[in-house]
Amino acid sequence: MAIKVLLVEDTATELKFLTEGLRSSGFEVDTATNGSEAYKKVYTFAPDIVVSDIVMPGIDGYQLCRMLKNGDDTKKIPIILLTVMDKKIDAFWGKKAGAQLFLSKTIDIKALASNIISTVKRYPLKDEYKKALIENASSASSAQLKLNSVLNDLLLKSIFSNEFRNLNDFLNYERILVERLFSLLSSFVEYHVAGIYFASPDDFAENILYIDTLGRNLSKNLLNDVCYDFFRNMEEQKVIKNSKFEVVKMLLGKETDYQISDFTSKIIIPLVFDRKLIGGICFYTRANINYSSFGFFDIMISELLALFKMKYQYTEKEFMSVLDGLTGLYNRRQFEIGLEQEFNRTKRHPADFSLAIMDIDFFKKVNDTYGHQYGDYVLKTVSDLLKQSFRKTDLLYRYGGEELVVIMPETNIDGATIPVQRLRSMVENYDFEYNGVKARVTISIGLTMNYQEFSSTAELLKSADDALYKAKEGGRNRVVLYER
Ligand code: GH3
Ligand code: MG
Ligand code: MG
Repeated sequence: MAIKVLLVEDTATELKFLTEGLRSSGFEVDTATNGSEAYKKVYTFAPDIVVSDIVMPGIDGYQLCRMLKNGDDTKKIPIILLTVMDKKIDAFWGKKAGAQLFLSKTIDIKALASNIISTVKRYPLKDEYKKALIENASSASSAQLKLNSVLNDLLLKSIFSNEFRNLNDFLNYERILVERLFSLLSSFVEYHVAGIYFASPDDFAENILYIDTLGRNLSKNLLNDVCYDFFRNMEEQKVIKNSKFEVVKMLLGKETDYQISDFTSKIIIPLVFDRKLIGGICFYTRANINYSSFGFFDIMISELLALFKMKYQYTEKEFMSVLDGLTGLYNRRQFEIGLEQEFNRTKRHPADFSLAIMDIDFFKKVNDTYGHQYGDYVLKTVSDLLKQSFRKTDLLYRYGGEELVVIMPETNIDGATIPVQRLRSMVENYDFEYNGVKARVTISIGLTMNYQEFSSTAELLKSADDALYKAKEGGRNRVVLYER
């Protein structure tokens, strides 16, 4: 039986030339002059192969290709696209669209014929498959209906991608971004509860899961369970280290009696780029849904990944410019700004604040004995202990090489002594270990507060320095309070 070729070409002379050439080579040929005509012909002619031009008015070769590859009943039909030149870009898009082969339009009939034969041999269609095509077309409107639905689908996909890209405008307005993202997601994903998580480059930042319940009133417990489930899942997938998290209640009202176990379907997706977790999303529903099999899923994930990546890099940039790279503490410039602000504020509206300067004892020796890298590790670890010792409202800085400072607003010198002593003791008792090498380290601390007699930040700073000097003189590993 002759191989049935559906030939698609908008230029009449070329169509005539190719048709005659292929017929005389022994093929059964039917023709179409544009993509939508070709799509309908597929159902009446049931070809073994489609050979199509790319540039055509209306639905072009790529689109035809995508339409055919989108339908279960047409996707197995092999497609050869004819390109004007051997353009790489044609091959790229054609491959994306699912075409099997690219040939130059200038190819001679003999070569075209042998390529058709070998392609049909590689991708043979069963008779039942072709028969099903004809049967599907029996109602004349079905092809048109499908055509419309495929077109809508394609259109929807591009609109869909556009919608995600529009969200880029809100990268630094997290709340708005979250709201818009939920509104977009809810327009095509079914859920009772959805969550969005943006990772921060700051290891110490709280993990926040934004939750949307589509206006339903769900219990606090349930929302906590969802958060717990989400971050636990991130841990299990080994993309997150600690699951300290905060629940942000986007919507909360009268409680209902839903349990997390009522959600029969769920999906939790970490978004990972460059082996870094940059965020995650989750959906829960009481309906029976296989989330990963719905139409736009892959596109959604890749669009979300692009969006989250942009957001992460944006945050990272912001973060890097004010924070010290090694310790993650605010840098010296920020300290100068912060101290000035606090000093002036408490002059205008009298209030206490304390300031502590910490210096690692015999740090030169640590470097000399264990190496500079070990020194860096110690400095980073001491900074981490510092972050653990103070309140969220306290401001932590890397002041110099191995000197750290903390500003404690609304705290007098007596109140400040407590966390400062706690830190000193934590460092003293900490088992430093890096690359299998253990060490003990201590710190000395000078503590002061904004006494009235200080007329500038320089004087205040000097008082802290003097106290630190006394701590060193007095034998180190101690806290010394500035004496007026
Ligand atoms: P003291 O108890 O009197 O403070 O003794 P010390 O050895 O700590 O003396 P000093 O404060 O003068 O020495 C600071 C040393 O810290 C000098 C410098 O080589 C080292 N240092 C400064 N910044 C860094 C850093 O980022 N990494 C490492 N590994 N070492 C640093
Ligand atoms: Mg030192
Ligand atoms: Mg020093």
